Amino acid sequence: MTKHAVKVSIVGTGLVGSTIAYTLTVKGTASDIVLIDVDKKRAEGEAMDIEHGSPFFPESTIHAGSYDDARGSDVVVVTAGTNQRQGETRMDLINRNASIVTDVANNLKKVCPGAIIVMVSNPLDVMTRVMQDVTGFPAERVIGTGTNLDSARFRYLLSQKFGVDARNIHGYILGEHGDSEFAAWSNVHIAGMNINEASDNFGGIMGDYDYIDIENAARNAAYEIINRKKATYYGIAASASRIVEAIVRNEKSIFPLSVKLDGQYGLKDVYLSLPTIIGENGVERILTPYLSEQEENKLHHSAEVLEQAYEGLKK
Ligand code: NAD
Repeated sequence: MTKHAVKVSIVGTGLVGSTIAYTLTVKGTASDIVLIDVDKKRAEGEAMDIEHGSPFFPESTIHAGSYDDARGSDVVVVTAGTNQRQGETRMDLINRNASIVTDVANNLKKVCPGAIIVMVSNPLDVMTRVMQDVTGFPAERVIGTGTNLDSARFRYLLSQKFGVDARNIHGYILGEHGDSEFAAWSNVHIAGMNINEASDNFGGIMGDYDYIDIENAARNAAYEIINRKKATYYGIAASASRIVEAIVRNEKSIFPLSVKLDGQYGLKDVYLSLPTIIGENGVERILTPYLSEQEENKLHHSAEVLEQAYEGLKK
């Protein structure tokens, strides 16, 4: 994809969508960015604000537009929908956002039949499934940011504990992007050492409570941020823009993304996060690393929560 101009459209240009647009512009990931929102003035204002930094960024164009302007997009990022208010869970948004995502999907299937869709709207896993249902696009081309952000938070927290660069810590939060997500401790590695060996190497740094505290802090981070500043957008913009970058540069990078399962760990059709290789065609392969029995049970619990929420939408 990097051989030709890269076009990215963003549907929903509130706090999250506009911050993703800004991040993509600063990094020079796309040559053309289209901003679409029911609030057209908002989209226009965001485009103007971002393009005024153009003398300081890699060359690209950004403008507000309609769905027609999204034709030919390589990637469409969808952030349309309401966000959590204080005290709300992501699942509380389900009915409000399902009708918005259905509307967006009906438009996108007409104008961008070949695009890869990256979903951000919450509750993320169910909204990604609705997008795939309504567009009828192949599941490889409809993915959700999933637990990529939660895993980044997890790695950051471990990096603080160990006093090591977060980029040298590998580990995933898997399952639902929401309250049933879990830390896959079996897969955490630091310099090739598993978490127990790494802890021993660092003088037994991980006490029993640290495992619980770090997992809870990663899971509850959004609530903590929303309590303080009403919304989260920088972390998700870093996560989503990195995913877009890996797609348009055909990197075959691995991220924990919300993908449609097809038999992995005995699960089918539900969207949830597993480590996934992505490139110019979207999902290249969904990976199934070893999980302990307890972790596999947690994955199945997430799948049940998500299946129930999805079935509830049809009633
Ligand atoms: P926001 O209210 O600031 O922006 C939402 C935008 O969507 C608004 O500009 C609104 O006009 C637009 N919109 C509503 N209906 C639309 C439609 N039918 N077509 C086009 N645009 C429409 O909210 P936000 O803080 O930007 O959050 C957006 C979504 O992202 C929320 O659902 C939030 O929960 C989610 N989110 C996800 C993650 C993640 O990790 N996946 C992280 C943060 C936020």
